[in-house]
Amino acid sequence: MATIKPTDLLCPRPEGLYCPPGDFYIDPVRPVARAVITHGHSDHARAGHGAVVATPQTLDIMAVRYGEGFAAAVQSLPYGETVLRDGVEVSFAPAGHILGSAQAVVRWKGLTIVVSGDYKRSPDPTCPAFEPVPCDVFVTEATFGLPVFRFPPPEEAAQALLHSLSQFPERAHLVGVYALGKAQRLTALLRQAGWDQPIYVHGALERLNALYEQWGVRLGTLPPATGAKADFGGQIVLAPPSAIEDRWSRRFPDPINAFASGWMRVRARARQRHIELPLILSDHADWDELTSTIAELRPPELWITHGREEALGRWAELNGIAARPLDIVGYEDEEEA
Ligand SMILES: [Zn+2]
Ligand SMILES: [Zn+2]
Repeated sequence: MATIKPTDLLCPRPEGLYCPPGDFYIDPVRPVARAVITHGHSDHARAGHGAVVATPQTLDIMAVRYGEGFAAAVQSLPYGETVLRDGVEVSFAPAGHILGSAQAVVRWKGLTIVVSGDYKRSPDPTCPAFEPVPCDVFVTEATFGLPVFRFPPPEEAAQALLHSLSQFPERAHLVGVYALGKAQRLTALLRQAGWDQPIYVHGALERLNALYEQWGVRLGTLPPATGAKADFGGQIVLAPPSAIEDRWSRRFPDPINAFASGWMRVRARARQRHIELPLILSDHADWDELTSTIAELRPPELWITHGREEALGRWAELNGIAARPLDIVGYEDEEEA
């Protein structure tokens, strides 16, 4: 019998990464009959599939974002449990990216491929930490796959915001945060840093905040940033970046505009968006986290997604790991849209 190649188990197709023996896709970018979804961000979790397997948290997130009928059928697969798809074993290990985020571990005839989805290694009080799983092929993202992307410890983002509040106690601090993941992580970091006052939130964050609370992530008092509360001087207001750029933000007289993102590592981006207070906070692995994770796993093969494949691929080859880009079109960082 011929030996099994990794591409017999998973291969890139225009719809996404496909498993021929199990007849399913992982994070397909187009509607398919059977999908395994790593996490709730919209480039990975799309509506309209036939059957969806995901963690219970991710299924909840999809229902909040797309409505209950987002797929014809759903199967909840908690971390560490296994389902069989035509002889292929699928299980989830924590990815440390956002609530419910998982690496898909696919096993078949002695071969193991781990599809990390999106991941990070820096601490996050809103989800369990990334769990390294030994494998024959590791599929990594490379959103920040360039050596210039090195992020400071996450606490520094909360400290920088609180420092600015103490310097400008009369001004509202309007912070752009992606609605799923970043909003809740920054909130939890502010609580850890001792900020126990209400944190005001844009309506677009409310249902996801409530879902995190339901899953046991304590976020404190989060009143809506509307109504009579004067001009929000000295307060923190969280809103999606798009709301900060549109007329919604005109209700705040002289705000300090902040933005919490890994992209704030690039000064030109902060300037472009008229961000006075850039807060470097990423839910993706930076260059050091990517390379240390690959060094720790030492997979015989590395497959790379999310655009910046070249530098990471070269680093892997220099370290004796065979690497290839997957060229799946449709994954982008949610904050770059
Ligand atoms: Zn993501
Ligand atoms: Zn992604």
